Amino acid sequence: FQAPLMYHFFGERQIGPSLMHFGSEELKQEFLPKIANAEISFCLGISEPDAGSDVAAVSTTASLHGDYYIINGQKTWTTNAHNADYIWLLVLTDPEGPKYENLSEIIVDMKLPGITVRPLYNMIGVHCFNEVFFDNVKVHKRYLAGEKNRGFYQVLSQVDYERAGIERLMQNYPVLANLRTYIKEDRSLSSDSLIRDQIADLEIEFEVGKLLCYNVAWTIDQGIIPNKEAAISKCFCTRFEQKLGNVATNILGVQGQVMPGFSETPFNGDMAESYLWNPSCTIQGGTSEVLKGVIATRGLGLTFKKGKS
Ligand SMILES: Cc1cc2nc3c(=O)[nH]c(=O)nc-3n(C[C@H](O)[C@H](O)[C@H](O)COP(=O)(O)OP(=O)(O)OC[C@H]3O[C@@H](n4cnc5c(N)ncnc54)[C@H](O)[C@@H]3O)c2cc1C
Repeated sequence: FQAPLMYHFFGERQIGPSLMHFGSEELKQEFLPKIANAEISFCLGISEPDAGSDVAAVSTTASLHGDYYIINGQKTWTTNAHNADYIWLLVLTDPEGPKYENLSEIIVDMKLPGITVRPLYNMIGVHCFNEVFFDNVKVHKRYLAGEKNRGFYQVLSQVDYERAGIERLMQNYPVLANLRTYIKEDRSLSSDSLIRDQIADLEIEFEVGKLLCYNVAWTIDQGIIPNKEAAISKCFCTRFEQKLGNVATNILGVQGQVMPGFSETPFNGDMAESYLWNPSCTIQGGTSEVLKGVIATRGLGLTFKKGKS
């Protein structure tokens, strides 16, 4: 259970598989070996101030002038943009085109002139995501990844892979493991029926989460894109993560609120950090509400009824 979860999430999980599915031979040759050798890093530029769950509302433009796209606009919540070598960018390539058929994906070197990265701090005070601004950024058209104006559909399968990892369950595993030990070592806690009930509930959910993750892995192994499987797994596991943080900080009381960095912090402040970090997990990569929509529509085949109900 202590093995590293990933080296470079975006490269391995999303950009690599996306290039394998949609990239030209030239792009595959240029980027795949470097991703596999961990020589380059990517960030993902999908979300904008007015385009989050509604990916089709992306308004950052890329207009073709000769052999070059000229990119203008803004992305937000861009994780790791301050460290990444490249950004995998969703852009509007046909402003007059029909919704869902006007977006494309393009790989952009973060060192190009016209790119500005501004930090955003999360509620723990950590700088992990950013705003990224594009002011007449010039990119050769050979960096277009996949078919022009098919970007929306490409993104749909990419986010399935983003949601398909075990990290949502396992990133907080040390919190669960430490909580078990803490309760076991304190007789008054381990004999408290309310606490036994809470930790047993967590164990049930952890085991169910594991099976959901295995189901996603099995689906990928069959050569199937894990759509509803990944949505179910992410929805369940992120809810578990939040519950784990709540239960752990409640049981530790005041000590559970001490952040990392203070001397004698119990479990290095993991519990408090997990409590503050976990709300973001039900938002990133598709909110729980949106995922339930995926399960209901693409999973169960339910349709939206237009007009009066
Ligand atoms: C930690 C973190 C890292 C992130 N990293 C990146 C990144 O690297 N790159 C990137 O591009 N983006 C990133 N994001 C952004 C993330 O993808 C968006 O926050 C997410 O898609 C939701 O968009 P939004 O914040 O605009 O909320 P909105 O889409 O405005 O949603 C607001 C609320 O409305 C609900 N809602 C919206 N639409 C529906 C619907 N159809 N049905 C039911 N409810 C709905 C949502 O569930 C939510 O509760 C990151 C976010 C977080 C929290």
